[in-house]
Amino acid sequence: MVEGMGFRDLAHFNDALLAKQAWRLIHNKDSLLYKVFKAKFFPHGSLIDAKESSSGSYAWKSILRGRDVVLEGACWRVGNGKSIKIRQHYWLPRKHPTMVASPMVESMEEATVDCLIDEGTRTWNADMVDGMFAPEEAEEFKNIPLARVATEDSLFWPLAQDGKFNCKLGYRFLKEAEDGSHKEARPDHEKGLWKKIWALACPNKVKNLVWRACRNSFPSKSNLLRRTIIKDQTCDCCRGEAEDMIHAVWTCKNLDCVWDKDTAWSFRNQTSFSSFSELMAWVFEHQRKPALFAFTVWSIWTQSNQMRSQQPCCSLNLLSQFAVERYSEYQAILPPSSPSRPRMRTRWKPPPLDVFKINFDGAVFAMKIVQGWELLSVTEKAWCLQP
Ligand SMILES: [Zn+2]
Repeated sequence: MVEGMGFRDLAHFNDALLAKQAWRLIHNKDSLLYKVFKAKFFPHGSLIDAKESSSGSYAWKSILRGRDVVLEGACWRVGNGKSIKIRQHYWLPRKHPTMVASPMVESMEEATVDCLIDEGTRTWNADMVDGMFAPEEAEEFKNIPLARVATEDSLFWPLAQDGKFNCKLGYRFLKEAEDGSHKEARPDHEKGLWKKIWALACPNKVKNLVWRACRNSFPSKSNLLRRTIIKDQTCDCCRGEAEDMIHAVWTCKNLDCVWDKDTAWSFRNQTSFSSFSELMAWVFEHQRKPALFAFTVWSIWTQSNQMRSQQPCCSLNLLSQFAVERYSEYQAILPPSSPSRPRMRTRWKPPPLDVFKINFDGAVFAMKIVQGWELLSVTEKAWCLQP
């Protein structure tokens, strides 16, 4: 094994050996070694989230190094979800990297998977999942089977048939990681786009459609043709061009009567886009009412599906109006948005003589103080009172 190995290879081999040790510690909690390490280094937590301490021995540091290799290559099997961090651990059943790509709500960076599970029924909390993640990722989540009875979350090694780590596979994993062969993260601009779509003031079904259109994962005729479901991709409406996503909801001549109604969309006749995601990015960039745009796209797509399946539907002429109405209705039921209010900086100023000034933090009202006193002025952070 050692012959012909370069220094990097030896380092990988060493790491694989350490990972093997860490793997044993994670899976065999009855061992003496585990008990010794636990008592000393992570009495209240687990090896998974143990931190390096300055007092740690060389042996402990080595274990942590091995643990990190395990966490990098292993995948979580969801039990009760309490050990798995939604955003930081690998747990989605797909090819590496199996980490969640959807951006997380800021306050939830550290959240664990159990908050997405309805413990009573042991099912995924669909509203929560749909509301928080990019649509195709949300679908992936909801397809992960949950055991009827919650067990502890467990780690498996996806490259091994029996799911157990071994040195040989660990070594290969580290070698491939170095080559970067399984690190194809999603392009950044796409992450940025999803973040913006996710923030739109629209129902999830609308965001979902717009996102799928951006990802070109839509049953447009062109996509159906590619998957050899149909043989002709000509647009049913204009019979002129291939019906890809951008044609179906944007460039088709039949849609002039929808998009020409509002001057916000007049760039349709001046700018051309090669894909729907490019168009969507442009709309965001130029602040052309992105939420209304999304509602309109959704209305067009829904209408054309109704037409196709011969259901009663709104005529194209009225579609623009229809979208505006849905959009306004939705804005009306939204909770009042709280745009980050500029914080008032109040500097303490001494009050005039015989005036008492009460500075406080927050808005705790103690009306008793005011009785018998004249309230001279009130600001966010101070009252001025006179007896
Ligand atoms: Zn057409």
